Amino acid sequence: MRFFSHFSKILHSHPTSAKLLVLASLSGGGGLVAYADLPSDKEKQGLLVHDHGEARKKKVLVLGTGWAGISFLKDLDISSYDVQVVSPRNYFAFTPLLPSVTCGTVEARSIVEPVRNIVKKRNGEIKFWEAECLKVDAMNKKVICRSSANENLPGNNEFSLEYDYLVIAVGAQVNTFNTPGVSENCYFLKEVEDAQSIRRAVIDCFEKAVLPDLTEEERKINLHFVIVGGGPTGVEFAAELHDFIYEDLVKIYPSVKDLVAISLIQSGDHILNTYDERISSFAEQKFQRDGIEVLTGHRVLSVSDRMIDVKAKSTGMNVSIPHGMVVWSTGVGTRPIVKDFMEQIGQSNRKVLATDEWLRVKECDDVYGLGDCTTVDQKKIKEDISAIFAAADKDNSGTLTIEEFKDVIEDVIIRYPQVELYLQNNHLSDITELLKDADGNEREEVDIKEFKLALSNVDKQAKSLPATAQVAAQQGAYLARCFNMREKCQIEPEGPRKFRSGGRHEFRPFRYRHLGQFAPLGGEQAAAELPGDWVSVGHSTQWLWYSIYASKQVSWRTRYLVVGDWTRRFIFGRDSSRI
Ligand code: FAD
Ligand code: MG
Repeated sequence: MRFFSHFSKILHSHPTSAKLLVLASLSGGGGLVAYADLPSDKEKQGLLVHDHGEARKKKVLVLGTGWAGISFLKDLDISSYDVQVVSPRNYFAFTPLLPSVTCGTVEARSIVEPVRNIVKKRNGEIKFWEAECLKVDAMNKKVICRSSANENLPGNNEFSLEYDYLVIAVGAQVNTFNTPGVSENCYFLKEVEDAQSIRRAVIDCFEKAVLPDLTEEERKINLHFVIVGGGPTGVEFAAELHDFIYEDLVKIYPSVKDLVAISLIQSGDHILNTYDERISSFAEQKFQRDGIEVLTGHRVLSVSDRMIDVKAKSTGMNVSIPHGMVVWSTGVGTRPIVKDFMEQIGQSNRKVLATDEWLRVKECDDVYGLGDCTTVDQKKIKEDISAIFAAADKDNSGTLTIEEFKDVIEDVIIRYPQVELYLQNNHLSDITELLKDADGNEREEVDIKEFKLALSNVDKQAKSLPATAQVAAQQGAYLARCFNMREKCQIEPEGPRKFRSGGRHEFRPFRYRHLGQFAPLGGEQAAAELPGDWVSVGHSTQWLWYSIYASKQVSWRTRYLVVGDWTRRFIFGRDSSRI
């Protein structure tokens, strides 16, 4: 055995060719050949080799079990990696159904799936630690975590984990924009616990409003529900609340049914302003018909336990509105752990952790970032334009012919997706149309100045991706594929040409595919924006919403529970017990 370990030391301290030489000179035994072959194969499969000859799989550490983390874990081939997961919650929550949990349309347990259920199906073991990551120490490739258990575990509940590759997918936190009183007096809608608290608070407001000896004004204040934020979550919650109150609660609290009011405050000029205009105006009209007051162009100044102070942008007037409860549903903020990490790696001037188009955190080796806590920093074509020109100008003539340009087009479009968007938005059928002169005439060739001018407006099309489950899930699946293909793509790179340094990128960059978005508006009506500029509103869209959200569930168990909850709600209505 000693001989083998000594021999293995020699092998590992020599490059592959030297190993072959040593082996060839020793010749003979198939066993020996097999032994020598083993480490090099393992290296290829993402295995690390220790000095003392043992091979171990590379450690992949995932922080977070939300949309991005779970999508990565589901698709990762764990036979080649030692995978560990840290998250303070031992479940995955299907966030698009959280607004339905606030009013009991679906139950909280129907939209969560234990992480261990999701990861146990794999051909190997994924280690899960229910803990919060407190700090990433990128220099030493380790993270410090604290267990979520309340017990006094050794070491103040803290432990550290080492990694070879780190995947940060911790999502975002609520953003109060430092508005006074918001943290103390508002409800949020981010986690399952938040949705459960809102459900209890709504019932509380009704129970308080029917107590004896209250004036009508006091009852009214208790039943004034205010929602801040006219984005998809705020709008969906307002719609759910409206249905809950007018389909179920008014029947059991008939004495106060005329005192209820719902207000939606939005700082922009329209609600759902990231959606198609047709959807946003349909939603505003529907809310008007339903009696939901929409205050657009109003900014919240402060919130107290009884009042919310707002400023109307148009008149500059401040108004104090009494409320029973306020749900704050606007903006996403950076988690402290991500902020701290950004400072470590010199990204403190940014708002969100920046990655490149391969989802690698910038200025930090072997760390990847996914989902709401990150933004993809799209490389500007302007920065590489001279390198692209030089690579395309094969005959070094100082000018680019159409033929020469055509040779690099595919790589340019893959590397800089803003080029394709620019063509689409300017109704250009062919990229070579970019090279036409100012009068629209075709040119035989262009020089570097003309080439720069032709592409000068392209970068304006680069947009940051929205903080949605769709983006997070696609990023998780993309990164898992890169990890699974690492070995193959090191040998046969599939990515676009590296214009500056030569060679090719190992992988194609991440490309987001927008599959459309929904906005449930209550009363069994929804609006949808689907690819190809297709907008649909009304009852049939709500049924499309039901079928898509049922099919998107992470397991058959949650699918069964969610559909069961919908059916129960149709038959018996929502449950108003305050438990
Ligand atoms: P998350 O899903 O938030 O996951 C973050 C994970 O990190 C969680 O498991 C968390 O416990 C864990 N974590 C947090 N801190 C730490 C730490 N310190 N250490 C380790 N782990 C940590 N998007 C859509 O596309 N469609 C919708 O209809 C939709 N509806 C929504 C409705 C609501 C009410 C909300 C709140 C969001 C909705 N979204 C929707 C947005 C979507 O939920 C997010 O974009 C998505 O969750 C982002 O995924 P993520 O993995 O980045 O973060
Ligand atoms: Mg040329």
